[in-house]
Amino acid sequence: MADNCTPSFKAADLVIQLTSAPKPIVDLPTFGTVFTDHMLTIEWSAAEGWQAPLIKPFGNLSFHPACSSLHYGIQLFEGLKAYRGDDNRLRLFRPMLNMIRMSKSAKRACLPAFDELELLECIRRLVEIDHAWTPHSDSAGLYIRPTFISTESTLGMKKPTRALLYVIMCPVGPYFNTEAEALSLWADPKYTRAWKGGTGDCKMGGNYGCSFFAQYEAGDYGCQQVLWLYGDDHQITEAGTMNIFLHWINEDGEEELATPPLDGIILPGVTRQSVLELTKKWGEFKVTERYLTMSQLCSALKQQRVKELFGSGTSWIICPIGRIVYQGESFLIPAQDKNSQLTSRIAKELTDIQYGRTPSDWTFLV
Ligand SMILES: *Cc1c(COP(=O)(O)O)cnc(C)c1O
Repeated sequence: MADNCTPSFKAADLVIQLTSAPKPIVDLPTFGTVFTDHMLTIEWSAAEGWQAPLIKPFGNLSFHPACSSLHYGIQLFEGLKAYRGDDNRLRLFRPMLNMIRMSKSAKRACLPAFDELELLECIRRLVEIDHAWTPHSDSAGLYIRPTFISTESTLGMKKPTRALLYVIMCPVGPYFNTEAEALSLWADPKYTRAWKGGTGDCKMGGNYGCSFFAQYEAGDYGCQQVLWLYGDDHQITEAGTMNIFLHWINEDGEEELATPPLDGIILPGVTRQSVLELTKKWGEFKVTERYLTMSQLCSALKQQRVKELFGSGTSWIICPIGRIVYQGESFLIPAQDKNSQLTSRIAKELTDIQYGRTPSDWTFLV
């Protein structure tokens, strides 16, 4: 958290300019295509510090063509959702974890510090103002995209002296479709998502822009996403833009839920952390942050020790993985019968919290 002497913007200084032309609300459009009526913008400069936060009608931004977010990728973002419960109240899911992660990314990007609680309060006000855009559905939500960019208008290789933090939002459709086919992944060590000493543990745009090339090649192998590997031992790291979990009988014959440790190349997902905390609390099997390699996974598959493999992230919460193409072989991941599936159980427990059916201090009322 920003310490007391860090100058930050304050939610109490919010200036609100409401639109005079509200748009018709679109119910469940394609992800990220339709935005709500308002956005939050907060400007910063080295000379003057943070300006007052502003909520204003959604619209284009204007930048100097030399802007260093465009040239050098000094940029980062976050992703969280507001959920409308049966009680018609809107809830955010552990939003402080997103605020703190955003602060960490900002530090790594040489962008200025801010007070996470103040940003959360500004976002709460934005969601409140555009509350009608949150779908009336227990499988949809309002996606919130905080973004932080350098607006430094010189080509010099230097720390930004101007920056813009802004937040836009869009309604999103159902993410967890139990009938949906499980995800197929292409695993090839020739591409790397993140590396030691890099920025893979920050949500910086550059990590994603350079991943599409591999993503399209995955399509050539009949797969939907990339299973990102790392190192000579082909460590399993992430699935597309999700963290990954293996539910199996490990080498020592123990039932285990395992996910790779946060060693700098893994994005510290809020969903990941929640799955770990939730399943540890059940106390029904071993829950571990550990390295997993392709050879460990392949031999476990051959010995029928794999129960389930799934991805976790805000978009789909929990996404079962059904197939992996690796070294010319297609490996099928078994899915146990629906009722015993860990994926459905975790998804249900998490969504029950998000939609307010299970009271929890993980939710933040708007
Ligand atoms: C955002 C993201 C995740 C998931 O994080 P959540 O906080 O759970 O949404 C996982 N991996 C990558 C690479 C991501 O960008």
